Amino acid sequence: MWIKVLGSGAGGGFPQWNCNCANCQAVRSHAPGFYPRTQSSLAVSTDRLNWLLLNASPDLREQIAKTPQLAPSHADCVRASPIKAVALTNGDVDHVAGLLSMREAQPFSVYAARRVIDALGANPIFSILQPQLVPLVELQLDKRQEVSGAQIDLGLELLPFSVPGKIALYLENKHAPNFGTQAGDTLGFKITNTKSGKFFYYIPGCAQFNQSLSDRLHEAPLVFFDGTLFHENEMIDQGLIGKTGSRMGHMNIDGPDGSLKAFEKLNVVRKIYIHLNNSNPALNDFSREHAIVTAAGWEVAKDGLEIEL
Ligand SMILES: [Zn+2]
Ligand SMILES: [Zn+2]
Repeated sequence: MWIKVLGSGAGGGFPQWNCNCANCQAVRSHAPGFYPRTQSSLAVSTDRLNWLLLNASPDLREQIAKTPQLAPSHADCVRASPIKAVALTNGDVDHVAGLLSMREAQPFSVYAARRVIDALGANPIFSILQPQLVPLVELQLDKRQEVSGAQIDLGLELLPFSVPGKIALYLENKHAPNFGTQAGDTLGFKITNTKSGKFFYYIPGCAQFNQSLSDRLHEAPLVFFDGTLFHENEMIDQGLIGKTGSRMGHMNIDGPDGSLKAFEKLNVVRKIYIHLNNSNPALNDFSREHAIVTAAGWEVAKDGLEIEL
């Protein structure tokens, strides 16, 4: 199975269009140790011909342009795409807006939880994806789902599970004073190659670690995990927005409740931070925070990273 990191940044990307924080300034001026990152998405394939996307970011068009495997080949007919399916971890803008770049009457399947499907259905702009060409398939928590699209079996199985999270920002007001957190609003995925049995986890958003996550991820061969913020208060401290990490549905890397600590005893073989916010000091390869993360056995994802599993 091949896994390609199309984008490793959080919502807004790196640099973010309107952000003038120290990191964004540094990456704009090509300072050493800083690499631009598009908004997070993975592409997965068992044959390098047909691909599943995990989330469709607003940068999808640019990501496809940079990834020759995702372009139509010379042998294809006049309209074609190797992307046969998209699975969504939640309804956030940075995870669904790329679907709009996939219009133009191309068949593929979308897999998502019920409330995300309803949110897409309630927004008329997404009706550009015609239902007869782009079926929305409801994912059931903890039920295995074979992945196919455009009548092609991708040889992949998706196991969606609930992780502590937060409902999409644009739905907050409509749906509840507790920011609408319900089981299924934020999913993690276990993705398995049905032939080889090899698998990995994709969890780009997680508000809190719990026992069920520890049990699940124990000794996993590969985990991509929420690396949005290093410090709980880093966005407040940098004067960016007045929200903590947990208020945004992302646990921090550092601290007693952070992901470094949570993974300490899990014996995960390869662990990679993804969905990094532009405020995260670990984005600087020469920072103290980057050194802390790598010393703990983590990698910090960069766009274009490719893994064979
Ligand atoms: Zn996001
Ligand atoms: Zn910034």
